[in-house]
Amino acid sequence: MAHDDHGDDTPKNLTKNEAMVYEAMKLTDRPQKAYDLLDVLKSSGVRAPMTIYRALEGLEQKGLVHKLDALNAFVRCNHDKPHEVETFLVCDKCSQVQEIETNTSHATSVESNVRAVVIEKGFRMSAARLEIKGVCSRCVEPAAA
Ligand SMILES: [Zn+2]
Ligand SMILES: [Zn+2]
Repeated sequence: MAHDDHGDDTPKNLTKNEAMVYEAMKLTDRPQKAYDLLDVLKSSGVRAPMTIYRALEGLEQKGLVHKLDALNAFVRCNHDKPHEVETFLVCDKCSQVQEIETNTSHATSVESNVRAVVIEKGFRMSAARLEIKGVCSRCVEPAAA
């Protein structure tokens, strides 16, 4: 089910504005705020922040982008399969965000652990989002000083 190239083609079922925002989000892997996207899309004639917000909302509902609450920004989803637990590694230094793909064993163990804890509390989980902050592998200082 996994497509290695997922995220490079723009899905067909998008509105004109959603497609435009999605295209703009492809320009970088960093999380983007609505105003960053507005800047990018100004040259295409987009003036209203509301246009961007609506498009982001639509894209989020279609599972193509994720909102990161801590950063108040959006990233593109990097896999096809829907996930119960969305897990993101957020670098404090370069603000790069890496999403743990659902079809990896890491994601599976995160999901099953989270689910076990939740079930134990008698809670019925619909969705969860983990934002793990720290320093990414590229920003970690070399060990020697
Ligand atoms: Zn995702
Ligand atoms: Zn980093």
